[in-house]
Amino acid sequence: MLSYRHGFHAGNFADVLKHTVLVHTLEYMTQKDKPLRIIDTHAGAGVYKLNGPQAQKNREFDNGISRLWPGEQGMDGQQPGAIARFTELVRKVNEGGALQLYPGSPLLAQTLMRPIDRLFLHELHPADFQFLRDCMRNDKRVRVENEDGFAALQALLPPPDRRALVLIDPSYEVKSDYQHLIKQLVQAHKRFATGTYAIWYPVVLRQRIDEMELALKKSGIKNIQLMEFGLQQDNPEYGMTASGMIVINPPWTLWAAMEETLPWLVDTLGADDTSFYRLEQLVPEK
Ligand code: SAM
Repeated sequence: MLSYRHGFHAGNFADVLKHTVLVHTLEYMTQKDKPLRIIDTHAGAGVYKLNGPQAQKNREFDNGISRLWPGEQGMDGQQPGAIARFTELVRKVNEGGALQLYPGSPLLAQTLMRPIDRLFLHELHPADFQFLRDCMRNDKRVRVENEDGFAALQALLPPPDRRALVLIDPSYEVKSDYQHLIKQLVQAHKRFATGTYAIWYPVVLRQRIDEMELALKKSGIKNIQLMEFGLQQDNPEYGMTASGMIVINPPWTLWAAMEETLPWLVDTLGADDTSFYRLEQLVPEK
């Protein structure tokens, strides 16, 4: 089933957290003088036109990246460092200063990667795959495939230089996607236990996330952190009210960055006084 198009959601509150975590993690991992393999299993279109018909349909970016733009509330006072780095990269793709384009995970990764790094992108939707290919402009460091990201992931692990960042950002269109993700993740971790894995999740039905967390705790995988931001208290009638990232083997700097970022997101983007965040060490390092 491929009815999901990320263009309808680009730049929303969930993207802000996801991409802030991604940028922070990538900047940390590209400091070491050794090649990094970056694997994006569900890549999307690469870049999104915020004035295009998809993004304009529900204008989800109005309560996301738009609020962090110069002149808006999220730019008053001091932005947390991780948010400032992320918004700086979004500004880079909007040369005129007006917010028109929103970079997806592939473009953010391409911007931050070095000549020695490699980026592997997977996108199943035929139209978004074409957009993605155009977006990457034959960059020799990047491989773009129209194939299942989970199957590809197993084939790409372990990486030759034993350094990898894996972003798993599925569209969760059917209930079984949650279980499938855990199964694939456990398999990938068996192939390469020291990699960094960043998994995005939406909170629509809380029970699904509780089950995911339980499965991870029982999996034997160590060093798992969870960071979540909720616009308002859980309510499946409102659709996605919160979203989070689960990071396995995170940079040691991520926790402190999130301690600063998450309360700020609650104050800046929260819908009402039930807005909340979670920052948890789901499984300890040892
Ligand atoms: N990672 C992107 C970003 O942050 O900019 C957004 C990705 S979007 C949430 C999920 C994407 O996964 C959709 O474009 C969808 O077409 C694609 N997709 C769904 N199932 C897939 C699969 N098995 N393998 C690769 N891509 C898939």
